[in-house]
Amino acid sequence: MITGKPLYTVEQIQQRVKEMAGQISKDYEGEELLSVGILRGSFMFFSDIVKLIRVPMNIDFLIASSYVKTHSTGKIKLHADIREDIKGRHVLLIEDIVDTGLTLAYIREMLLARKPASLKICTFLDKKSRREVDVPLDYVGFEIPNKYVVGYGLDCENKFRNLPYIVVFKKSS
Ligand code: 5GP
Repeated sequence: MITGKPLYTVEQIQQRVKEMAGQISKDYEGEELLSVGILRGSFMFFSDIVKLIRVPMNIDFLIASSYVKTHSTGKIKLHADIREDIKGRHVLLIEDIVDTGLTLAYIREMLLARKPASLKICTFLDKKSRREVDVPLDYVGFEIPNKYVVGYGLDCENKFRNLPYIVVFKKSS
């Protein structure tokens, strides 16, 4: 069940994404970037932010999951890897939300082993209070409380991803 007003409206999201893209463009000035989206959740955020980043860019995607319904299983499943060779390149991982940190810690280790020139992480949402493993986050859209949210790419059983805002989801029982 979707509850109440959006946690973040379309306008608030667009404003924050613009600010983040501005910061990323500044930080990577003079470099070429490989932006890697973690699917499926990041597809909307990825598409919005890359349009506003002003440095030459390649893009790639990987598909990973750890959640069943509204709970993390703690086990990361890599459904599809990136296709680009990242050795010596500047990689920016783009994620929808960091919760326990297990998914990103796993992906980060896997990609670092391929020796990129740099690897930074950009996440739209950060549920910091739920962290189980430490992952360095370079760009964070919003820090949110321990609530299950949907919309703006985020799902519950693959529904609600198309909502253009972020809203809290409660199980109806
Ligand atoms: P972590 O491995 O950090 O625990 O979980 C990361 C993944 O869990 C995210 O990419 C996302 O798919 C899912 N996730 C964590 N919290 C939420 C949430 O509040 N809403 C939704 N829809 N997915 C979440």
